[in-house]
Amino acid sequence: MPSIYLQTFGCQMNVADSNGLAHQAWSLGCTFTDAPEEADILILNTCAIREKAEMRVYSRLGQLKLIKRPQSKVLVAGCLAEKDRAVMRRKAPHVDALLGPRDYRQFKSLLAQWGVPTDLPPPQTPMRLPSAEDAPTLDAPLEYAHLRALVSITRGCEKFCTYCIVPYTRGPLESIPPAEIETQIRREIRCGAKEITLLGQNVNSYLYEGLNFAGLLRRLGCIEGLERLTFLTSHPHDFDREVVDALADVPALQPRLHLPVQSGSDDVLRAMARLYTLDGYLEKVAYFRERLPGWALTTDIICGFPTETESDFLKTLDLVQRGTFEYAFVFAYSARPGTPAATMEPQVPQHERLRRLQAVSAAQNERTRRFHESFLGETVCVLASGPSRKDRTRMAGKSGHNITVVWPKDGAHSASPTADVVVEQAQTWGLVGRVA
Ligand code: SAM
Ligand code: SF4
Repeated sequence: MPSIYLQTFGCQMNVADSNGLAHQAWSLGCTFTDAPEEADILILNTCAIREKAEMRVYSRLGQLKLIKRPQSKVLVAGCLAEKDRAVMRRKAPHVDALLGPRDYRQFKSLLAQWGVPTDLPPPQTPMRLPSAEDAPTLDAPLEYAHLRALVSITRGCEKFCTYCIVPYTRGPLESIPPAEIETQIRREIRCGAKEITLLGQNVNSYLYEGLNFAGLLRRLGCIEGLERLTFLTSHPHDFDREVVDALADVPALQPRLHLPVQSGSDDVLRAMARLYTLDGYLEKVAYFRERLPGWALTTDIICGFPTETESDFLKTLDLVQRGTFEYAFVFAYSARPGTPAATMEPQVPQHERLRRLQAVSAAQNERTRRFHESFLGETVCVLASGPSRKDRTRMAGKSGHNITVVWPKDGAHSASPTADVVVEQAQTWGLVGRVA
């Protein structure tokens, strides 16, 4: 049976898609290898969100060309396959096939074209998930990988933020029927999942036959055996009090909310077509803070969006310095050809984008460290992800707030998927402690 090398770039949505592709291949009897030079089929599941992500994929394709066996097939899947459909053959002629995020139903027939028999009974051996290169917390050793599961609730996005390539690569919004979502969650729980992350580009736009996102959360919260539930990503325009009330009522929900603000300036938010003002955003945050004290608020910020002035940037910096967020993912704007922002004038010079990024990141780091310090002496319940990558004598995992926690490995505790850890040190990157 053919062996497959599968490498994933980008967001958790891509990790979930890779799991789906891997499952299809496994059901036909394919095996997986971490060694591309031995594989019969090499798959890169790619990301196109920023230019850097694209460059990493093309550089990896160049490496694979040199090491792959001459008869091996190369498949590029994901957002870059969709975005560069017309140019990929020229840029990387050794690529044999492209499958965009909406084409995964054709995967099995592609494998059949490449000689994989499709009429054999399913294999008796359990599926081993391939590694998720870009998502280290999800790239857990085998004995921990099943503890966290990603379950998509929507596909695509129709928001068309002016900087973003996703609506072009992933297509229009589609909500997955709740019964299908429940079936998948039950299956993951049977396989040992302790934490389920619901995925969608904008989960708040979920709508299936009158069931909205708040209703879906309440319904899923009743699933027996569901210990931890969380979700990504919320759009501030569609996030409302009804969702906050559901968050307060469903005990399995973990105390964290990711609500990307992108900018602290109304002029920039308008140019981004984000559909909210800063005051509107802060009003929603105020209700969230009132109903859910103790939850962590995290965000995404883009620095150096076209037309962003120094005064716009200072508004974002001020928002961060005021301690609005417990954590932020801060990005330098990257022009995506074909999106409206790519041709807006003036574009901010690259060095200026990076200067702003560094200033915002430094301010956020301060706030994040203070947040982490608030756990000193406390006991946090951690879901393990395996031995720490930096120090194999320690275990690593995530708290309910999604903070990285490490603690010394000890035989008795290291087998357990969860640990109560007393926090002894707080750093910007996370917490260090000992088992309680
Ligand atoms: N749908 C989610 C949302 O609206 O927040 C996530 C979309 S994207 C995978 C994650 C983050 O990447 C966005 O929130 C945004 O901050 C950032 N991003 C998207 N396009 C970008 C671009 N062209 N340049 C820089 N950052 C970008
Ligand atoms: Fe992109 Fe905006 Fe859709 Fe998020 S909501 S995927 S940033 S277009």
